[in-house]
Amino acid sequence: MTDHKTSRLEDEYFVREDAEKKRKLALQVQKETEAAELKRLKALHHMRCPKCGLGLQEVKYQGIDVDVCFACHGIFLDRGELEQLARPEKSGVMDAILNWFKGETKP
Ligand SMILES: [Zn+2]
Repeated sequence: MTDHKTSRLEDEYFVREDAEKKRKLALQVQKETEAAELKRLKALHHMRCPKCGLGLQEVKYQGIDVDVCFACHGIFLDRGELEQLARPEKSGVMDAILNWFKGETKP
């Protein structure tokens, strides 16, 4: 009777242990899948225009790296660059950027 009870408790212990092991493993697999997916997405989209999918060109101007899509005229800025462009001393930069598209016929 006591033996039976003990072995049942042991069974439950091992089942719990096993479940915990499998839960941790599933969590690990999920994390690895997410990391792999993030890596895949970055490889697929890095320096690609989010609107048309063509390659972005990096143009450095007055210390600001502007990513430009010459296909759809999209202009993309990294973190902090919009704040830089908003400064009064950089007021000429936007005009200069817009000039990069001059000479192209409007779609
Ligand atoms: Zn584009």
